[in-house]
Amino acid sequence: MSPQRQSVNHNKTTQTSMLIQGREVQVIIRSMKRKSLRLGVTEKGEIEVKVPFYCPRYEVSGFLSKHTAWLEQRLTQFELKQKTQLQQLQYLGKCYRFQRSEQKSRSPVLIDDVCYYPQSWHEEDLISKIELWQRGQAKVVFQELIDQWWPHFYQGALIGRPVLRVKKMRSRWGSLSSKGYINLNMKLMEFDPAIIEMVVVHELCHSHYFDHSANFYRLMAEKLPNYKEIETQLRQIEKGCAY
Ligand SMILES: [Zn+2]
Repeated sequence: MSPQRQSVNHNKTTQTSMLIQGREVQVIIRSMKRKSLRLGVTEKGEIEVKVPFYCPRYEVSGFLSKHTAWLEQRLTQFELKQKTQLQQLQYLGKCYRFQRSEQKSRSPVLIDDVCYYPQSWHEEDLISKIELWQRGQAKVVFQELIDQWWPHFYQGALIGRPVLRVKKMRSRWGSLSSKGYINLNMKLMEFDPAIIEMVVVHELCHSHYFDHSANFYRLMAEKLPNYKEIETQLRQIEKGCAY
């Protein structure tokens, strides 16, 4: 760079910090040839303020505090966007990345390894909307399995046709109550359909035996001869689970 050019180009970067949502964040101040101050959040999530040359510090500080609410909002948006990009949908044993749909759709569409979510969904609501959708899917998938399997169990059962309840549970995949409710963990929807089926059959076996006795396992083996293999798969998944 020539000395002449250097003397023309005063662009200078300094840093300051400010409190946003109770934490101290760094602000990059770029002095440049311009008339007004301009605030932004960069691609990297840094706060950047462009200021005219010789703009006094107190003016920059005043400008920043005036726009704190706006900055908070932008930073929250940025964090959500990052989370969404990191998040993937695990669905029936497959993994999908999220992408906003170009088409008009009311619910997510899964093609290849992409989950196209409706245009109308805001990124900040994506995770909660997906969860709601998944709960709806779970009701359908679980109910179909119960309907398919119940005819193999109703004879001699200690309860009537079980009523499905989809739940978020931390410590179990399913349970069958003596009152006739079959509770199934929503997280099962992440797994291969064979695993979901095994859990459903396991719970339906409880309609004959409310314990894990030898009779229970005899019934299980009779209904689903390869259940042990699938149980092993589920144990493997459990080991890899974060919770
Ligand atoms: Zn059991």
